[in-house]
Amino acid sequence: MPRQLFVTTALPYANGKFHIGHIMEYIQADIWVRFQRMQGNIVNFVGADDAHGAPIMIAAEKAGVTPQHFVADIAAGRQQYLDGFHIRFDNWSSTDSPENHELARQIYRDLKANDLIEIKAVEQFFDPEKNMFLPDRYIKGTCPKCGTKDQYGDNCENCGAVYAPTDLINPYSALSGATPVMKSSEHFFFKLSDPRCVDFLQEWTQDGKLQPEVANKVKEWFSVRTNPDGSKSEGLGDWDISRDAPYFGIEIPDVPGKYFYVWLDAPVGYLASLKNLLEKRGENFDAYMAQPGLEQHHFIGKDIVTFHTLFWPAMLKFSGRKTPDKIHVHGFLTVNNGEKMSKSRGTGLDPLKYLSLGMNPEWLRYYLAAKLNAKNEDIDFNADDFMLRVNSDLVGKFVNIASRAAKFLPDGKLVESNEQSQAKAANLLQLVAEYLDQREYGKAMREVMAFADGVNSSFDAAAPWKLVKEGKTQLAAQISADAMQMFRVMAACLKPVMPGVAAAVETFLRCEALTFKTAATPMVTGHQLGNYSHLMQRVTQDQLDALFESPVEQIRAQAALEFVANSSAGMPLSQPSPTSGRGSDQGGEEFAPLITIDDFAKVDLRIAKIVNCEAVEGSIRLLRLTLDVGEERMRNVFSGIASAYKPENLIGKHTVMVANLAPRKMKFGISEGMVLAASSADEKAQPGIYVLEPMPGAMPGMRVK
Ligand SMILES: [Zn+2]
Repeated sequence: MPRQLFVTTALPYANGKFHIGHIMEYIQADIWVRFQRMQGNIVNFVGADDAHGAPIMIAAEKAGVTPQHFVADIAAGRQQYLDGFHIRFDNWSSTDSPENHELARQIYRDLKANDLIEIKAVEQFFDPEKNMFLPDRYIKGTCPKCGTKDQYGDNCENCGAVYAPTDLINPYSALSGATPVMKSSEHFFFKLSDPRCVDFLQEWTQDGKLQPEVANKVKEWFSVRTNPDGSKSEGLGDWDISRDAPYFGIEIPDVPGKYFYVWLDAPVGYLASLKNLLEKRGENFDAYMAQPGLEQHHFIGKDIVTFHTLFWPAMLKFSGRKTPDKIHVHGFLTVNNGEKMSKSRGTGLDPLKYLSLGMNPEWLRYYLAAKLNAKNEDIDFNADDFMLRVNSDLVGKFVNIASRAAKFLPDGKLVESNEQSQAKAANLLQLVAEYLDQREYGKAMREVMAFADGVNSSFDAAAPWKLVKEGKTQLAAQISADAMQMFRVMAACLKPVMPGVAAAVETFLRCEALTFKTAATPMVTGHQLGNYSHLMQRVTQDQLDALFESPVEQIRAQAALEFVANSSAGMPLSQPSPTSGRGSDQGGEEFAPLITIDDFAKVDLRIAKIVNCEAVEGSIRLLRLTLDVGEERMRNVFSGIASAYKPENLIGKHTVMVANLAPRKMKFGISEGMVLAASSADEKAQPGIYVLEPMPGAMPGMRVK
């Protein structure tokens, strides 16, 4: 009986492009799915965009589009990554789909009918100008511990203190600048502290569905204890599942103006994407989910364990649904031992850049497979190690076998092969299949490469090239046929990791589709192979240099090219030094991703004359500037430069402003643009704010480009 498997990866938040951390997770799951299919198991592998929540609503508003439009634009960019890295989901949907709206609302109704929904009043900061409750991240103010200004509502980036938004001194809304007010609102809670939920979860999290290290961590969340900072943990608390309008999400049934918190409907998106897939195929979702042997597997990162081991199984259980069978948690991916690949900010290895450089996606798939295991552990992408593994393992060991053996097969036909080798091959297939099923990919890859070492050394010891010179062509053909049979077995083992290479091997060998079963039977004596053509290139140092070249180096390289191209026209460009950016601290922050000249042209920079400048009553940060930008009227602009300049010292000076920035309503009035000033992101190391001033002669209204 084939296994019936329903497999998902975590749903990416639809406010940005995929980064390498996403690609790693999808490759990990894709390898497992491809392996299961090779074993004859039946898999539905689905993903979706996580489309709801305040950050997307706010980002869409800033971009001047609807949230639906915003997430559709993000979704439109997904396929090139998936195709590019040979990641084959059966379906890609969105949590804003009709299926998800319906399922989320039904699950809520079922939980309510089960007496697991409770309403409690919650006091929260409210932005009176935006007319909305503010998530912690959108409240800023002065740190109550160290006094640093402009800190977020949940913690201070300067001293690291963690506090409630209500602890902030002089809090303000990061959306409007307005002073928030406390306001009470009814919130809906999922009663996770209900003894039914606690009993269920204590068992569910400890009976083998989680990796041992994950289960141990989860165990702590059930106990009443004292935290290192002295606060008390009460065990499982109830979960706030509602948000007030305006919110981009799913409206709670029968409660107008209240929406599900994005994390309530996000995992429901797994079921919704599956339902969408099955209905497209004319299959019944409920019947599919009711199959007794159906296994539900979720691949996730370690940062979202709580949602998948507490809230999600409890929601499913107490709405009368099937609960997950396995949660496979992976660690983070670091690049060159560098920064963490967090969900919101992926830097270091740009997946699209990798593809655009013509680098083989299966190199990356193999490299990640070689490093991944079944544990919740971080792994590192190291450029030198990557080149070594790909060139030495894949090209030097694996592909090399076929290229060498093909030379000694008369007319490309196989002669009788060696039974001893077949026994070893059967053993390899079984071992690798076990490791892949357990997600011990690293162990599986090591077995294959150790096997390749054995085949290569037997081939070297037999030296068929010498045998041919001695006239022993038949013996040379036997040794080569044996190597070619073993090559096919290894290709089967690597097929879930490198489906493209495996397909090329199948074409070359003219053999039926490779599985762990078909590969156990050798190709017959007399089998005619196709023509050998090289199966894989080596990674080059140039490719890796280009992959990790920083944007500033790219810009310099581009500028240098343009200088050469334009030098005959007498362009006053100085040749940039290609190394001058290295080792500097880039003003305390990374350079932003490259933009096109068209992107830049959207920003209308103008010379502005500061005709007046004054302090702002009630603000120690802001100065009010009256600017002449060559228009009939003056512009009013607030600028956070009061710590650096006395107002009277700025009057009469020229500067540069962004003239087409949408006007912003602030606490003290409307700001009609922005003055350009330089500062380091690392204010401690390089304090100061420096307003830009043009060279003499620039007149108000002149465009800066
Ligand atoms: Zn602080």
